[in-house]
Amino acid sequence: MPEDLDSTFRAVLVSKHGHYNFDDPDKIIIHAIAEYYFGTHGRIFSADEYLKREQMSMHSIITPSGINFRLRNDDQCAWHTKHHNKVAFGIAFLVPGVHTDESLREAIKDDYVSIPQYDAGFEQVGQWLDTYQVIEKLDKHSDLSDEPDPGYGFPWDEFNKDLAL
Ligand SMILES: [Zn+2]
Repeated sequence: MPEDLDSTFRAVLVSKHGHYNFDDPDKIIIHAIAEYYFGTHGRIFSADEYLKREQMSMHSIITPSGINFRLRNDDQCAWHTKHHNKVAFGIAFLVPGVHTDESLREAIKDDYVSIPQYDAGFEQVGQWLDTYQVIEKLDKHSDLSDEPDPGYGFPWDEFNKDLAL
């Protein structure tokens, strides 16, 4: 079994990525990625390893247990949504389990966000909305690209309503 996710993410936080210019953020983009991915040769990658392999990053990753891992500071750029990275915060809700792209696509069709995960995501997004008042709505990754996430399983209406959007 892969090592405990929480300790994996702590390691990522310690080994900081470089600092990149980030223009005034005007978007918050909601993503879903798998907690673990099947790799080649029977390997299993944790979400942070997956992001690194795909040369992607997020400002925040919310685990099913409700931990908010900040992988980028607010003033650092993250690579998560083509053509929007210079102005968009990226937050990913982790989908429990080990997935392929196909199984993840299926998994996000049904409820996958736990209550502590919802609360932690709410707190992070709420903080951004308070701090960056130019942001008046949230975007789904799927609104801005061909990617399917965060999927119908994400409680979009409830989340927006709770944030008074
Ligand atoms: Zn995405």
